Amino acid sequence: MDTKLKMSKYNFFTSDKEGNLIIYNFLSGITSLTKVLKSDVEKFKQLFLANNEIEDESCVEHTEAVNYLIKSGILIASDINENVLYDSVQYNQVYDSKLVLTILPTGKCNFRCPYCFETPQSFCRDEMTIDSQNALLKYLQKAIPNHRALHISWFGGEPLLSPDVIKRLSDKFIRICSVRHLPYSADIITNGYLLDADMFDMLYKLNV
Ligand code: SF4
Repeated sequence: MDTKLKMSKYNFFTSDKEGNLIIYNFLSGITSLTKVLKSDVEKFKQLFLANNEIEDESCVEHTEAVNYLIKSGILIASDINENVLYDSVQYNQVYDSKLVLTILPTGKCNFRCPYCFETPQSFCRDEMTIDSQNALLKYLQKAIPNHRALHISWFGGEPLLSPDVIKRLSDKFIRICSVRHLPYSADIITNGYLLDADMFDMLYKLNV
């Protein structure tokens, strides 16, 4: 391959407690997260950070690493104009994408899993009020014209403790999408304890 390569200007570098180098690329997102072991950091710097342009031949022995960095968006062809790339990513996110909302119908949970990141305070959060639901619907009515689909993720606490909120909001979301001919989908993150046949039936009818 003759292509010259360069490091993306959207790379972010930091180190972890062990001194390994952590790289994140803001254009590629979470899939770009890469760790360079402490023992390889100097070599990495020599190969990839010492020059603005990287001759691909210089990396021949490191093909696997180079391929990985290219796939992660950390290393790119030197003739790519990243400003244009950024504008296109931004445009797609704002105007052309699926609107994805994560909603907590309640902060309460019927479990106390030892590994849970929720705190005793968050478990005290009450069910979403009608005012909050209406504010969310108002936001959605304003935002939806800029998107091509709506996806809702029901989260908590344990969302199945508040099926009425899920039902009421889902009915409204489905209606808002129907009148605009937009696809609607939803998922739920639940411990499943309350998932009996009736609950399943309700969720199924609500596209969850
Ligand atoms: S079910 Fe989920 S929210 Fe509830 S305690 Fe367990 S991990 Fe936390």
